Amino acid sequence: MEEIYIFGHKNPDTDTILSSIVLETMEKTKGASKVKAYRLGDVNKETKYALDYFGVKEPELLEEVAEGQKVMLVDHNEFAQSVNGIEKAKILKVVDHHKIANFETHEPLFYLAMPVGCTSTILREMYKVNNIKIDKVTAGLMLSSIISDTLLLKSPTCTDKDREAAKELAKIAEVDLNEYGMNLLKAGTDLSDFTPEELINIDSKPYTTKGIKYQAAQVNTASIDDVLKDKKAIEEAMNKFMQENGVDLFVLMITDILENNSQIIVLGKQEIAEKAFNVKLENDTAFLPGVVSRKKQVVPNIDNAIA
Ligand code: MG
Ligand code: MG
Ligand code: MG
Repeated sequence: MEEIYIFGHKNPDTDTILSSIVLETMEKTKGASKVKAYRLGDVNKETKYALDYFGVKEPELLEEVAEGQKVMLVDHNEFAQSVNGIEKAKILKVVDHHKIANFETHEPLFYLAMPVGCTSTILREMYKVNNIKIDKVTAGLMLSSIISDTLLLKSPTCTDKDREAAKELAKIAEVDLNEYGMNLLKAGTDLSDFTPEELINIDSKPYTTKGIKYQAAQVNTASIDDVLKDKKAIEEAMNKFMQENGVDLFVLMITDILENNSQIIVLGKQEIAEKAFNVKLENDTAFLPGVVSRKKQVVPNIDNAIA
């Protein structure tokens, strides 16, 4: 029997990697033998911390899929964020918590979307519906995803379902939610050995709305000023990326995970961002108090400003 590939989005984050692994585990528990989690890019430091902590190997790299390949998607649906060749793949399943855009299939599929803070929160619901016991490692992986996506339950994307899941999963995983959570988030803020090109790609996603191509990237830090020291080099990298990829607007969020604010650097069609966030950019940047979620506080605003 041919293998079914499971993967999340490009420039993988913790939810994308760990939810892929969790779905593989769940499918196997339900009797599927030929399912395998993959990653579409390098695993970031935060994700590596979680994998090491719970003793799980990172998935193998997947660069493209062949026509007709059976796949399951987690933590994304937009084809531009997915594996190369996705248009011709056979999508069996999607488990996701993002807006649905630029997505189409030729055949019926299992599609479970919920407006919650994290894919792993939906996976936990699936565990419950299927009456499957959650083991310690799986709980740890799901918990790590929730902590990452909700910035330790502080993001406006965080729902009661995420909070309830995190509490229960921390118990099963035998970790202290706040202590483990802070250590996990801090592991992702070490940006010291990234080049500016790498930095803008750690967590970067492409979007297209009404013909406007924009890129929204995010880096987590404990000090916005530290990151801004390299602003000139970062802007050069952003400009280069825009030229190479035909991008009209690039918004980089530098997110302070301790204070829960973001500074944005904006290049390209800056007027869209100024309208979106109701700010005047100074030296290409603006401070956005309380903004930490690309999904809820950045992408919808940009879409509205374009429309
Ligand atoms: Mg994600
Ligand atoms: Mg996610
Ligand atoms: Mg994220």
